Amino acid sequence: MSHDLKEKVNRLGIMGGTFDPIHYGHLVAAEMARSKFNLSKVLFIPSGTPPHKDRRDITAAGLRFEMIQRAIQDNSSFDLSDLELERKGPSYTVDTLRVLRRTWPEHELYFITGSDVLREIFSWREVEEILKMTEFIGAARPGFDASDFLLKIQHEHPETQGRIHYLEVPALAISSTDIRARVKCEQPIRYLLPEPVRLFIQQHGLYTAEINV
Ligand code: ATP
Ligand code: MG
Repeated sequence: MSHDLKEKVNRLGIMGGTFDPIHYGHLVAAEMARSKFNLSKVLFIPSGTPPHKDRRDITAAGLRFEMIQRAIQDNSSFDLSDLELERKGPSYTVDTLRVLRRTWPEHELYFITGSDVLREIFSWREVEEILKMTEFIGAARPGFDASDFLLKIQHEHPETQGRIHYLEVPALAISSTDIRARVKCEQPIRYLLPEPVRLFIQQHGLYTAEINV
């Protein structure tokens, strides 16, 4: 394919996560991936709320969804999907990708993760299928070195060559876990996430109870 034609291929970025809450680490990874890989759009897909209580109570899906809306409103290349919120039971990435494949048949799919999540993908259900449907962009995340993982896949999964990309991004040591903990002990979270999200957290009294952290 000529370079010109390749440039015209529509590429859809997919950013999955709990987003409890969304913060600048997510947004920077998505924006740098969009620019570097010429993605026409990045779709944020928040996970549903698991039926069984896990380590902690995850904030209601509707509230996490609204926070993402507020965070991405000023970026016309970012969009939000309720695909996983509507689904009953756990959402597997492979199922989400099958739906996206049908919805966007002409698009190349790029699944964006941080390096912590990238290192785990070979434990995902039907990873071979996943890797046929999408390429991966793993954004550098402080504290999660991916170099061992990248070396390992070169040897153990040569078939994935050229489909798993590592992306250096300005390092932001921000996590939702830390933001929740900060809210709980009344530490500042300003400048870690977009201001409309911070105000939403404040208005709804999110992350103040023990159960939320
Ligand atoms: P939690 O602490 O609750 O796990 P989180 O900050 O890790 O929250 P998630 O919703 O788990 O956020 O992450 C969604 C995606 O965004 C994952 O692929 C994760 O690796 C990536 N990500 C999150 N924070 C960053 C960051 N600071 N830099 C790069 N990628 C990030
Ligand atoms: Mg996480």
